[in-house]
Amino acid sequence: MNITKLHKKYFDFMDRHLPFGGLVRRNPYAIVFKTTNWCWYKCAHCCESAGPDQMTTFIPATTIKSYLAQAMADPMFDKNVVFTGGEIMSSYRFDNADYVPELLTFCRDNKLGTDLKTNTGWINTSVATQIFDDLHTVVTGGPDYWLQVSLSLDKFHANSMENSLKFITKIATRPDMRVCIHICMLGPSASNDYDELKKHLRERGFRVGRAFSPNTGQRFDVVNNVIMYPTLGTLFAGGRAKNLSDAYHNKIPQFTVLSDDMHTLMAFDSFGRVTLGENDGHKIKTRWRASDGTSRSLWNIRRDLVSRAQYEELRYRILTGKKVLQK
Ligand code: SF4
Repeated sequence: MNITKLHKKYFDFMDRHLPFGGLVRRNPYAIVFKTTNWCWYKCAHCCESAGPDQMTTFIPATTIKSYLAQAMADPMFDKNVVFTGGEIMSSYRFDNADYVPELLTFCRDNKLGTDLKTNTGWINTSVATQIFDDLHTVVTGGPDYWLQVSLSLDKFHANSMENSLKFITKIATRPDMRVCIHICMLGPSASNDYDELKKHLRERGFRVGRAFSPNTGQRFDVVNNVIMYPTLGTLFAGGRAKNLSDAYHNKIPQFTVLSDDMHTLMAFDSFGRVTLGENDGHKIKTRWRASDGTSRSLWNIRRDLVSRAQYEELRYRILTGKKVLQK
């Protein structure tokens, strides 16, 4: 029997008995880069325990580009990338102003679906003008709406209404900036908060129009050239959020690995770890940074994640007598 047939028999056997590992191996995946754990804010609900007391280290741009290049050679990569933190824009504060433009330009030129998450805590600082100018350059250098920027609008983030309004106003008044803005909300007041945001935009003289996707029926709001839509998220009890009474305690967080479109999320962080799934807590994980400081190959990382998924599933079955995936 040749090695390929032997491999296939092994995978078939493992997939039959521990199918969660097979899902991790075969499912399309998106990549999240939690670029730094530093943040201007120190929110009580932060799943990453980010803040101004954290290290100012970033996943190097060369490392991120190398992983994306390796992923692009893998047919299972769904070509979607999320940049988050901490706060990625703090790279400007720490004299690394090329970081965000370099990463976004790479994604744009390689036609990757790109979501940039920012809390806009930088909007009243001296780096704001350069950030808007850089966003303008990278956005207008590519096709319309290639970039999505995700903002937070909730009671947990300080000044989130004021900061989001300033951000949208700045983008919407640049006539050639066609950007999609995703408003991430939490908590019972979410729809009121979104309505209030639109009310403030109208008070500032903007017309807020409506658009619908013919394919999905999803509703969007349109502010000049900006397309805007809200989603309601879950406050997971990871990091500092575990101290909050209204946080959701996921009983088996290690198996929470899928995004809304049912693709697997693989999240790299600035501590050198890779987890399946984005939020904190007990996760299936390995390391992207080897003990000698070099970056491990994406192939080895994915192989580790599959075998650790199988291990977690075996452990779960022994402890509970249940399967993770039911037929
Ligand atoms: S929740 Fe967001 S804004 Fe708040 S500390 Fe964490 S990364 Fe920063």
